[in-house]
Amino acid sequence: MIKELEKLISLHDLDIMISDLIDKDIIKQEKKLGLSPASAVEKLRKMRDELSLTIDRKYRDLYDQLAGHYGNAVVPVVNLMCSGCFTQLPTAFCASPDRNDQVETCPSCGRFIYWCD
Ligand SMILES: [Zn+2]
Repeated sequence: MIKELEKLISLHDLDIMISDLIDKDIIKQEKKLGLSPASAVEKLRKMRDELSLTIDRKYRDLYDQLAGHYGNAVVPVVNLMCSGCFTQLPTAFCASPDRNDQVETCPSCGRFIYWCD
């Protein structure tokens, strides 16, 4: 898998962790457990910002646009389907031997897609 795609997936994971941590119910639970969600969020945001700066500007801008629009900007392909919009991807597209060796987007919704298998 190419680095740029790995970084986009990591960026997406960090965004999920951050949004989970700022979820009010989760904050309550963590405070009960004696954890400090605010400092964790701060650390994650710092990691996110640092990672974000290493990503090619065109992908970073598209990521931010997609994340703002859909919430999830990077999705896996499951059963030859984009798991963001559930559109069947063209067979030729899926049969490409170098999938995950380039940054691909879903032809239907535009989210970044990657293959897990
Ligand atoms: Zn899609």
